[in-house]
Amino acid sequence: LFVEAPLQAGAEVPLSQPQAHYLFSVMRREAGDAALVFNGRDGEWLAEIVRAGRRAGALVCRERTRAQERPADLELLFAPVKKARTDFIVEKAAELGAARAVPVFTRFTNAERVRPERLQAIAIEAAEQCGRTSVMQVAAPRRLDELLDGWDPARRIMFCDERMTAPSAAAALAEAGPGPWAALIGPEGGFAEDEARRLRQMPCVVPVTLGPRILRADTAAAAALTLWQSVLGD
Ligand code: SAM
Repeated sequence: LFVEAPLQAGAEVPLSQPQAHYLFSVMRREAGDAALVFNGRDGEWLAEIVRAGRRAGALVCRERTRAQERPADLELLFAPVKKARTDFIVEKAAELGAARAVPVFTRFTNAERVRPERLQAIAIEAAEQCGRTSVMQVAAPRRLDELLDGWDPARRIMFCDERMTAPSAAAALAEAGPGPWAALIGPEGGFAEDEARRLRQMPCVVPVTLGPRILRADTAAAAALTLWQSVLGD
């Protein structure tokens, strides 16, 4: 269960109304039962339910069960697509261990707006589901050109290019080696020529191909992060 409160032995952790509903009405837990909690900073704790009401409740931290993990320094830059597919991208990025996800508006992006707070809630649920002790941060949307204007060249960009003229991702990542990375996935219509040209001219950009077929953007995001984790993750 993700909570905001600081976690340490004996600390009382208040539950929000939805959390109380989930624990006591859906999961049928009661006072005296145990629950695992994390806040993204203090690791994972075994906590005891000390108050169980319909609308509220509280836990008390008993012992730390896992140290705070440090996620790989990997960002996902993704062009938002249709709502359900954008949700899928964020959920899978969180499960696959990305530290941050940034919605990026490119020339051919059709989605008109994204709600980062909604996507952040999806990232928290994914962390709860997959046992992360950190929460993937969802950043405010950026325009691709602005993002590249201020880009830190120390962070390499795994540019997933549907033109398929680049080397295969596994080989290119192995050659480039570890460090801070971002994986960039385009929209349904792909990248515009000038966007791809600009990206290819940046020294920190590593163009890659994800295989011989054109993948949907959501599939491409999951494939790129999986490949990155298998080559450069721990
Ligand atoms: N029309 C499909 C859709 O509706 O989702 C295809 C979208 S594809 C153009 C979206 C993005 O996925 C591309 O911009 C690229 O970043 C990535 N992608 C898809 N297939 C790829 C491949 N074989 N190699 C590298 N990147 C790929």
